[in-house]
Amino acid sequence: MARGSKIWLNGKIVPAEEARISLFTHALHYGTGAFEGIRAYKQKKGGGAVFRLVEHMERLHESLKILNLTVPFSVEQLVKATTETCKANGFDECYIRPIAYIGDNPSLGVNPGANPIVDVAILNWEWGSYLGDKGIHEGARLKISSFIRPHVNSAMTKGKITGQYVNSVLAKREAIAMGYDEGLLLDAEGYLTEGSGENLFMIKNGVVKTTPLNSILNGITRQTVIEYLKHQGHEVQGARFTRDELWCADEIFLTGTAAEITPVQEIDNRLIGKGAKAGKPGPITLKLKSDYAAIVRGDLPEYGKNWLTAI
Ligand code: PMP
Repeated sequence: MARGSKIWLNGKIVPAEEARISLFTHALHYGTGAFEGIRAYKQKKGGGAVFRLVEHMERLHESLKILNLTVPFSVEQLVKATTETCKANGFDECYIRPIAYIGDNPSLGVNPGANPIVDVAILNWEWGSYLGDKGIHEGARLKISSFIRPHVNSAMTKGKITGQYVNSVLAKREAIAMGYDEGLLLDAEGYLTEGSGENLFMIKNGVVKTTPLNSILNGITRQTVIEYLKHQGHEVQGARFTRDELWCADEIFLTGTAAEITPVQEIDNRLIGKGAKAGKPGPITLKLKSDYAAIVRGDLPEYGKNWLTAI
């Protein structure tokens, strides 16, 4: 993983080794931060562009609103800061991690006090396939996690809030330790929600289902995929489903900025799909995967004319 040598911190681009934070940072102790995961891609016409940058920065603002924090930079300022950071690091294609958090805090109690200092940083690094090269090509192997998504009044699912990711870290590490690529989390009632860092789709008899918004992060890739699939004439339902319904799907895939479109080969030691096709990515998933790769590179202009921000 090659990291950018420059970081944007509170309005200035500084050498990465100078971007240091205090041990009195409130977010380090209590998880009071919010972040985004964004990707920039080399474009077919040359140069690089950031995919759905405005929507990511709007979600960052919403995460901070959920935390009841005042954001010191507007969406427009953060958009400009992102492209400038990519430029400063010489990256046409990279992963981008904006993070905003309660910084050095005088009391360091759970109560950060009125108007605590919110620091904002933007980091870049080069990141390949999130669920591995095998995962993205042949399909990932998943396990239903023993950890569940917290109740909607415990974790704020519409916020990408740092402290809440302990739940994802536990699920992910459990899945890896058991020899799988990723864990899928159920909700408290036993229905599927999402992966530790991806949304979930299943296809059965031509109907596409994805878990409803109430218990999951409103993924920007999920929104892109729903728009794409509807445009392709597929019916897409936001519907609850159980693990046994999932095992019997014809096709399953995960979506996320990091994971992009990752086909699912197997869940709980059951190959997905039937007969000779079992365990192989299905036709809808394969077309979506290659069209998504084209959309993000500006090579399928009928989709999302406003989804790419040039670096
Ligand atoms: N769910 C969770 C829990 C995530 O962390 C992510 C990654 N941000 C997603 C879904 C996918 O969201 P997006 O498509 O916006 O990256």
